[in-house]
Amino acid sequence: MSQADTSFDIAVIGAGVVGCAALREFTLAGLRCVLIEREADIISGASKGNSAILHTGFDATPGSLELDCVREGYRLYREIHARLGLPLLESGAMLVAWSEEEREKLPGIVAQAHQNGVGDVCQISAGEVLAREPGLAGSVKGGVWIPGESLIDPWSAPLAYALQALANGGVLRRDAEVAGGDFRDGAWTLALRGAAPVCARVVLNCAGNFGDLVEAIARPSPFSITPRKGQFVVYDKPAHDLVHAIILPVPTARTKGVVITRTAFGNLLVGPTAEDQAERRLATTEAASLQALHEAGCRMLPALAGAQITTAYAGLRPATQFKDYQIEALPERNWITAGGIRSTGLTGALGIARHMRGLYERHFGALRPLADPLWPRVPNLTEALARPYARPGRSEIICHCELVTRDEIAAALTGPLAAGSIGGLRRRTRCMMGRCQGFYCSRRVLELAAPHIRGLADA
Ligand SMILES: Cc1cc2nc3c(=O)[nH]c(=O)nc-3n(C[C@H](O)[C@H](O)[C@H](O)COP(=O)(O)OP(=O)(O)OC[C@H]3O[C@@H](n4cnc5c(N)ncnc54)[C@H](O)[C@@H]3O)c2cc1C
Repeated sequence: MSQADTSFDIAVIGAGVVGCAALREFTLAGLRCVLIEREADIISGASKGNSAILHTGFDATPGSLELDCVREGYRLYREIHARLGLPLLESGAMLVAWSEEEREKLPGIVAQAHQNGVGDVCQISAGEVLAREPGLAGSVKGGVWIPGESLIDPWSAPLAYALQALANGGVLRRDAEVAGGDFRDGAWTLALRGAAPVCARVVLNCAGNFGDLVEAIARPSPFSITPRKGQFVVYDKPAHDLVHAIILPVPTARTKGVVITRTAFGNLLVGPTAEDQAERRLATTEAASLQALHEAGCRMLPALAGAQITTAYAGLRPATQFKDYQIEALPERNWITAGGIRSTGLTGALGIARHMRGLYERHFGALRPLADPLWPRVPNLTEALARPYARPGRSEIICHCELVTRDEIAAALTGPLAAGSIGGLRRRTRCMMGRCQGFYCSRRVLELAAPHIRGLADA
């Protein structure tokens, strides 16, 4: 590896949705950037398991940095999604009160939404809730209608941000854990486990559930991460039409609560839970929690009792002792931190990246954005837009549950952002993610993937 390959303006640590958005923002701003990820693929941390809701920020804490970033992230996603080929399903959300006590909180929720700049949020009666969502249990006491809440594809979004950065000169290092750093003469030398060191003038800490450990490279971390697990139950596609909007509960101070929502891929989700744990990587599902989620879902939406379950999954929110995002520049250390991006980072990512760019300009110098950046498009995986299986002359279908073609799998295994793991291949194509969970197609998928994904050929 040449000296030039290892010397950058910016090194971003962590290729979750925040790091991918940061790589894009700073690359398009004209800087030479590298994104460093410890796992074999991007989107392998908190960003691989969430509810995939593009939030308006109606319920964020007024005056918080989270609110600013979510509002800006929401605006930016809507501005750029079509150019990158990303979906936007404008389902709206219905926040539902199930008791008199919860109903009394609705005017306050509407007032907070308006204070947050989400002016189209309004309170509606129990009758209006049931007219819009006739499948909900009749015990509804009232609701709040939030028209701007939307559904997106949780994986294609970070993929598109990274892909656009790479197309415009950004660099990605995978299988490269940042193990330490030395700051000298205005530049960092980052020691990578399993790869050559990287030099960069400024480092961005976007390490998600490892954010406090990475922060300790620059200073004693002012926040500590306690991952907060969220488990989900995924229902089969026939359940998709049991609701139309995203069904939200009245939130608590700790969590947004159990949501019923369609997915961009045509399933129905119930979740997440909120469980603190010490483990930072592994997000397991437990039968008792899934049963409790199913029962909660059935209480709100009785027809769910007859719905088939496809699978379950869990994600880990990078929670800290603070509710707000922990974003800060350390001018004397050439370091910018984006820590504790807990529950809204999929939405907030583009806004967080824009905020970090503002910090950079304030502390580290002016930027000269690219005049005419390239805009590569990501493959569409949702039924909202045309998919390859429906095209004449398409290649053989490999995954019959999700209708994934051989050409889609081949494309995901090659190119500048080729899948680095089977999980990454699933998130790029949805192969093995349908009703059979790979029972029928996994042999063929593994055969196609073996020449490209390290370790598979020997497995
Ligand atoms: C259950 C649940 C539901 C959610 N629902 C929503 C939602 O509906 N809408 C929404 O907007 N948000 C939602 N979120 C929040 C969102 O998923 C997170 O805020 C977001 O994914 C955080 O992204 P991140 O990039 O900060 O962290 P991560 O995705 O964890 O990325 C950090 C990366 O850093 C890497 N890394 C760590 N240490 C090192 C190191 N030393 N060297 C190199 N790499 C390193 C990790 O491997 C990881 O890939 C939800 C989250 C969960 C868990």
